[in-house]
Amino acid sequence: MVNVVIVGGGISGLATAYALKERAKEADMEIELLVLEKENRFGGTILTEKIDGFVIEGGPDCFITEKPWALELSKKLGIEDRLLNTNEENTGTFIFSDGKLHRLPEGTILMVPTNFVSFITTGLMSWPGKIRMALDLIIPKRCESDDESLASFVRRRLGQEVLDKIAEPLVAGIHAGNPEEMSLKSTFPRFIEMELEHRSLILAILARKKKMQAEMKNAPIPKRTYFVSYVGGMVDLIDALAAAIGSKNLLLGKKVLNVEEKTRVHGQKPVYEVNIEGERPIQTDAVIFTTPAFVTAEIIEDLDKSVAEKLRAIPYASSATVSLAYEKSSIPHPLKGFGFVVPRIESRKIMATTWSSSKWAYRVPKGYVLLRAFVGGAQHQKYAMLDDEHMIRMVRTELKDIMGIEAEPVLTKVYRWEMGMPQYTIGHLDRLAVLEQQLAEHSGLFITGAGYRGVGIPDCIHNGTLTAERVFEFLKKKF
Ligand SMILES: Cc1cc2nc3c(=O)[nH]c(=O)nc-3n(C[C@H](O)[C@H](O)[C@H](O)COP(=O)(O)OP(=O)(O)OC[C@H]3O[C@@H](n4cnc5c(N)ncnc54)[C@H](O)[C@@H]3O)c2cc1C
Repeated sequence: MVNVVIVGGGISGLATAYALKERAKEADMEIELLVLEKENRFGGTILTEKIDGFVIEGGPDCFITEKPWALELSKKLGIEDRLLNTNEENTGTFIFSDGKLHRLPEGTILMVPTNFVSFITTGLMSWPGKIRMALDLIIPKRCESDDESLASFVRRRLGQEVLDKIAEPLVAGIHAGNPEEMSLKSTFPRFIEMELEHRSLILAILARKKKMQAEMKNAPIPKRTYFVSYVGGMVDLIDALAAAIGSKNLLLGKKVLNVEEKTRVHGQKPVYEVNIEGERPIQTDAVIFTTPAFVTAEIIEDLDKSVAEKLRAIPYASSATVSLAYEKSSIPHPLKGFGFVVPRIESRKIMATTWSSSKWAYRVPKGYVLLRAFVGGAQHQKYAMLDDEHMIRMVRTELKDIMGIEAEPVLTKVYRWEMGMPQYTIGHLDRLAVLEQQLAEHSGLFITGAGYRGVGIPDCIHNGTLTAERVFEFLKKKF
């Protein structure tokens, strides 16, 4: 009999396990804990491969430092010295529009301009588009408080052209999502706060910039860039977490099939039986599901059909990343930037490309470059599951058209993420509240992970930590 089984060993599962162990240690309480992961490695979507001196990311290549939780965890794990800033001499993002790569106007924060000279002079936007965007300064704020799509919000405040050329590829692109369906409340609640507080997004961002400049006057130069990774790639975080949790609490190759609730003894909390493929079942006081929502649905189907149905209603989009390494001398492009995004209205077959070796140090041997293209997402699903040969050919054709690259890559790697990215569609938070209320009727069952309250790595860590606290309180009452 154990106290807690955590299903899934991605960042959410490991962060939850770590937080629970730390919390128990602090309270001098013994908690028997097991993380069950179906694959033969931990990390889930976080996957780094090291091949011939190249460091290749299959999934995420960084996290944002604006949300503190991943940085704080790195400090606790003692891997602060492994953190890697972006190469600031190459900073800048490009947008592919009308057959050309345009530098995103300097000072654009998310999709809002703060440097008027660079915005007025950019060839990316038409004059009517620029004028429409400036109307944000006088348009009144929205009074209704119901959820709205990202597209509707951007169209209303900044106009259709900003939506098509900047917000769709750059902002919705973070979620590989369709802005017409994305819930603003669940994905970018900060935009709502900005509108409520300042009416205009431009005024809100300018106020924030001014505040930050004032704060920075007396503060030391910030140590961290907006995006950070680790010297050895994102897997450094997974390795450090696994080492801190300890191998006796971590089991690989354990696919959870279902969970049963054992007969309740009157007045006592239920005991759960976790059934694992090809193994003996494990009895436990609590189960934390960190698996994608549709997998969790399958596991608890027999226990609660209604909860399973609600979990299944959270849609997921498929995507793929294609990494290509080249001899530097064979690339006609200067690669001065972090990469480019491709608006859907351009009707191309890739969503974006990161110039990985420009963005990060320690990614390639001397004399080589590494590029990483994104394929699929909610709006281009059909391309994400092509076989390697077709996918690489397609990406190379796109890179030839967009960047003029004709050379043979010296290395190619394709990673497919089938149903890998949860989509928070309009009304997501309201539906989640109902789901969580229903799940609470099964005392001892918990859910956390990218499917619910934030897909980014810092959010997964934060929500895992909050869940660990709730589980700790639950166990404390039980003991
Ligand atoms: C291509 C791509 C790029 C991304 N880039 C970024 C980025 O740059 N920055 C960022 O912050 N975020 C990024 N994200 C998002 C982020 O990586 C994910 O949201 C996050 O890693 C999800 O972690 P998780 O632990 O919640 O889920 P997962 O990583 O999906 O982990 C779930 C785990 O459960 C396991 N599992 C499944 N079924 C079972 C079962 N039956 N029994 C036992 N185990 C099971 C899986 O094998 C997996 O290990 C990206 C996502 C993708 C797909």
